[in-house]
Amino acid sequence: MVKLFNQILDFLYPPSCPVCGDLVEIHGNLCANCWNKFNWISNPKCYKCGYPFPADLDLGPTPLCPHCASGECDLDFIRSACVYDDVSKNIMLPFKHASKLKYQNLMSRAMIGCLRDLNLNVDIVMPVPLAYKRLFKRGYNQATLLARPIAKYFDASLDVDSVSRKYRQDMGHKTAKQRQENIRGVFKVVDKNKIKGKKILLVDDVMTSGATFYELNRVLRQAGVSAVYAVSFCRVVHAI
Ligand SMILES: [Zn+2]
Ligand SMILES: [Zn+2]
Repeated sequence: MVKLFNQILDFLYPPSCPVCGDLVEIHGNLCANCWNKFNWISNPKCYKCGYPFPADLDLGPTPLCPHCASGECDLDFIRSACVYDDVSKNIMLPFKHASKLKYQNLMSRAMIGCLRDLNLNVDIVMPVPLAYKRLFKRGYNQATLLARPIAKYFDASLDVDSVSRKYRQDMGHKTAKQRQENIRGVFKVVDKNKIKGKKILLVDDVMTSGATFYELNRVLRQAGVSAVYAVSFCRVVHAI
């Protein structure tokens, strides 16, 4: 019955690529042409933070970037589906600011894909919190929309209220150090009992310097969380 209903639905609304509108097999999927334009992050990459290395390097099964090798990354794992560039930006920014929710499926699916080989055990999926002022203005937290299908995939609970965020000025075009200083102290754990001893996967649309994930990780560890992972759709890749 469901199958028939889906067939009728596909007939009335044939699945189309959310980017260019060409017909595709499954709703929410990209067509091959659009898929190939993305800079998807594959191996070799830093085993811990997912930083992509040049394709021709053979660094063994668990290579580390200099940042992680020196112990500066306190998260257990970070992964991102693709590099932040003009292609991913054209998906990510409209999704964030212009309610282009048609991109939600492809973004969350790509994020699940980049976590798959880690075989993580996740208790809680937590979208990076938005300050109330921003949430009120935008009407939705884009990270929550991405986190929902990810929580379903891991059979984990979605947690949107154990941590709150203070409003601060936008961080655009600042250095990594300034971002780190700007974000320090913005997150506050409001329900410690819900997260203590749990393994938490943080979800965001973009990772810029990593400062947001690092700061959230800091307050979550203080609250007794046992593992912190993070995933973003895209990440800014600077030479290191
Ligand atoms: Zn397309
Ligand atoms: Zn790394």
